[in-house]
Amino acid sequence: MSRIVYVNGRYVPYAQATVHVEDRGFQFADGVYEVCEVRTGRIVDEERHLARLNRSLRELSITPPMSDAALRVVISEVLRRNMVRDGAVYLQVTRGTARRDFVFPDPDVAPTLVVTARSVDPSKGQSTAEQGIAVVTVPESRWTRVDIKTIGLLPNVLAKMQAKEAGAREAWFVDRDGHVTEGGSSNAWIVSESNVLITRPAESGILRGITRTTLFDLAQAHGLKIEERGFTVDEALNAREAFITSATTIVTPVVRINSTVIGGGTPGPLAMRLREKFHSVAASRPI
Ligand code: PMP
Repeated sequence: MSRIVYVNGRYVPYAQATVHVEDRGFQFADGVYEVCEVRTGRIVDEERHLARLNRSLRELSITPPMSDAALRVVISEVLRRNMVRDGAVYLQVTRGTARRDFVFPDPDVAPTLVVTARSVDPSKGQSTAEQGIAVVTVPESRWTRVDIKTIGLLPNVLAKMQAKEAGAREAWFVDRDGHVTEGGSSNAWIVSESNVLITRPAESGILRGITRTTLFDLAQAHGLKIEERGFTVDEALNAREAFITSATTIVTPVVRINSTVIGGGTPGPLAMRLREKFHSVAASRPI
């Protein structure tokens, strides 16, 4: 079955899904994106993802390509046409196509909207979580507006490549004060000796992850304490547990940071429990 992609009003076969060479996403990384998990035929936390998409667009003064209701129809249609039951849906909006110029084009230039979807075998993520992942720390090298989910991801690409070369799955950025900000494509968490969940406040230095937000709901439902504060690499190395969150990894335990083994090298029980319970609190809508 050939994959179908939505591009600017049309559902087209993957090989024919193209945007213009002067699309501002291509020229300037002038665009934003979202990724939602799809699980057992349901889209997870869609409302929160669309709210964040709209916020990202607003922060950059990019015109929303369509209403949320219309976008939900496109998302469903792309998932249906690709017969995705478990996997992910990707949305990208750019400022559109215009003759290359740094300043914004005329307001009547339409934004570009691309929606793609792919199937992912959920047992893969599960076995990764059951093994736990390694992370490496890298100096923070990104701009200060990482709260906006832009497609300008080169520092993340380089950091994650560095992680891969070191045999790790994720890179944790570390700011000038020695505090972990977040992962290349995930939020970072540790668990204290007294089982308190610790994660950096979303006011600066990180993307406010949707999975992170939903984990707050989950923690509340289970009477778990969350402390929103920065933590150093040293504190992480000595933590009882560490884990990452993102729409595609849900909650995935970290068992090694650089060359230090965390929690005896086996996934933390609290992280695994949060992973197991995550979908009991996350909102989901049938495709
Ligand atoms: N931080 C960064 C830099 C990310 O790329 C992601 C994944 N999109 C996250 C955090 C986690 O966000 P979410 O839970 O919304 O996937």
